[in-house]
Amino acid sequence: MQNFYERYKSHILLKEIGVTGHNHIKSSSVLIVGGGGLGSPLALYLAAAGVGNIGIIDFDIVDVSNLQRQILYNNNDVGKSKVEIAKERIEKLNSEVKVNAYNEKLTNINALNIFKNYSIVADASDNFQTRYLINDACVLNGIPDIWASVYRFEGQVSTFDAKKGACYRCFHPIAPEPDSVPSCGESGVIGAITGIIGSIQACEVLKIITGAGTPLIGRLLYFDSLNMTTKEFKIKKDKNCSLCGTNSSIKKLQNYDEFCQINKFSKNEITPDELKIKLKNKKKIKIIIICDKNEKQDLVFPNSFTVSLNNIMFLKDKLNINLETIFVCKYGYKSIYAIQLLKELGYKGKMYSLSGGTDKY
Ligand SMILES: [Zn+2]
Repeated sequence: MQNFYERYKSHILLKEIGVTGHNHIKSSSVLIVGGGGLGSPLALYLAAAGVGNIGIIDFDIVDVSNLQRQILYNNNDVGKSKVEIAKERIEKLNSEVKVNAYNEKLTNINALNIFKNYSIVADASDNFQTRYLINDACVLNGIPDIWASVYRFEGQVSTFDAKKGACYRCFHPIAPEPDSVPSCGESGVIGAITGIIGSIQACEVLKIITGAGTPLIGRLLYFDSLNMTTKEFKIKKDKNCSLCGTNSSIKKLQNYDEFCQINKFSKNEITPDELKIKLKNKKKIKIIIICDKNEKQDLVFPNSFTVSLNNIMFLKDKLNINLETIFVCKYGYKSIYAIQLLKELGYKGKMYSLSGGTDKY
């Protein structure tokens, strides 16, 4: 008993938590989707608080570039499964916590089955397909989704609970254009912002469990670490929301790649090998490298030029309609977007996107 009190006394002393609140924490089950920059502080603070059951799902392995912000991992973990390391680390921190490590991708096939074991889900993912999938699975299971995202020096957090307020679809009814918001790997991110925002998520989770304070339901907290300012925005529940509205049309999980248009233009893709063959055979093609000022692009292609994503629309009148145009970018998303944009602008020439980008070339 003394050990229990000693360990958690700083929580128990808080009148908003106390022994009752701690017991709720101990008997709670929280799923963290994503073992990256946000997932790291989330997992550590929830484990330290004594959350009885923590699930963590991620199919990635630790890359050396993750160590700048993903504080669950160290030098020796590079190349190993994130969730396996996360489980080891959490169990070392607090052996009373049961950890379920899901070394798999969250999909519309496994989500509901995994979610049914948890009363709260924390969205620490980094892409729109997963955010919609988490939101939909949470609404269908009637549990809250503690959501956050980070970008460069900024972060935002909200708690989506359709029983009490808006869901993520009320906030974003239409998926953004593919790659309109680049990933941390593309745009850069200051490591500490993932710590700040992930810790706010952990705080929200503990508040929901214990009923302490006022959660971020119907509110979005925006944090700008470059200027050290915060803003708050209201997020209203949309009574016409396709998921949580009065006449909702979504009754089961969807195809999120399709919804987010990730594969919509995949027929326009060319593999690295196919491009290499074209170049080897000296086939007449034009290569457009999409690269913004803050990106680094080391590869050199013949008959190519570089353009930023914002200037793609001006290519319409500059491209030779009789030549195949191959769009190349770092990860193969901006190139898909470029084709989509030029098609919408009425360009009729043949266009291809290098699949996987120069990263896979
Ligand atoms: Zn909604």
